[in-house]
Amino acid sequence: MSTHIEIDLISDTSTRPSAGMLAAMTAAETGDEQRYEDPTTIALEQRVAELLGMEAAVFLPSGTMCNQIAYLVHCRPGDEIIAASNAHVFGSEGAGAAALAGAQFRTVETADGIFDADTFEAALRAPRHRSPRSRVVTAEQTTNRGGGAIWPAATLNALAKRARARGIAAHIDGARLLNAAAEEGVAPSHYTRGFDSAWIDLSKGLGCPVGGVLAGARGFIEEAWFWKHRLGGALRQSGFLAAAGLYALDNNVQRLVEDHENARLFAGLVADCPGVKVFPERVRTNILFLDLSESGRAAADVSAEMQRHGVRLGVEGPTRMRVVTHLDAPRAAVRRAAETFLAVMKRPAA
Ligand SMILES: *Cc1c(COP(=O)(O)O)cnc(C)c1O
Repeated sequence: MSTHIEIDLISDTSTRPSAGMLAAMTAAETGDEQRYEDPTTIALEQRVAELLGMEAAVFLPSGTMCNQIAYLVHCRPGDEIIAASNAHVFGSEGAGAAALAGAQFRTVETADGIFDADTFEAALRAPRHRSPRSRVVTAEQTTNRGGGAIWPAATLNALAKRARARGIAAHIDGARLLNAAAEEGVAPSHYTRGFDSAWIDLSKGLGCPVGGVLAGARGFIEEAWFWKHRLGGALRQSGFLAAAGLYALDNNVQRLVEDHENARLFAGLVADCPGVKVFPERVRTNILFLDLSESGRAAADVSAEMQRHGVRLGVEGPTRMRVVTHLDAPRAAVRRAAETFLAVMKRPAA
């Protein structure tokens, strides 16, 4: 049976370009990006570099490629990347760091994907011939598998400072960095100070169909361009896509706080559901988890039943679901999704 999904909270990638965004895209001035002749892409790159307080930036087809190219530039084969054990770079990028850069991970356990400078320091290898070489530390702002938690700027700044002191490159996976900035009302560059590289995703909360923008020092971006070509990420009339990014930066950043309010709304509506553990006070941005382990229900069954009612949530584990709010799920839709969840949970398991 195929059911039409009316409310899709599986990810904040579940958006379609708005009429305004499409108009901006079709009106874009374009050229050959590989030859640095696409003015709209160049404008987007300059805009993001400025936003993140970096010298330069490069437009890429995806956030995954932003991370992978950052590692390709920062690492040599055998080098070690320090990251949270639930980081996207570790578990959700096809082992790209190992396969492409030849780097391995040293992961740190965290409650919500956030760790401090001392934890980072403890994960560093002693400089011995037999040890891997610690090379990069990665922070994920906001933490995806950590439930959308926000790294405090002070924690990030201290981490970057410590990394610099130890000769380690510091990288931010900023897929949802603008969610944090909007929520806390700070400039995005607040978080990236002292980091060697950082990127933002255009296709998550910003509502663009495609793209990420990786930023860093001029020399880093020059090297990134080499890998962009090698991996097939150098584009042609990418200005049509970059125009969506510029439109999103003008129109879709401040509104991210609505997504956060809607995530809190969802959490609040289901908080008293018997057997379901959800912590509304922990919802900082647009991601929340539902723990069904004490409900006797399987996440896959609840998901399937909800889909029959036109609502989709993410299945994260046997008894774990994920809700991600976004600009194509307004308040009323989020409310209906929560009500559908409550109704399905009320029925006895099949
Ligand atoms: C989605 C995501 C990525 C990858 O971005 P894509 O644009 O989907 O390739 C990387 N890191 C985090 C934290 C993400 O949520």
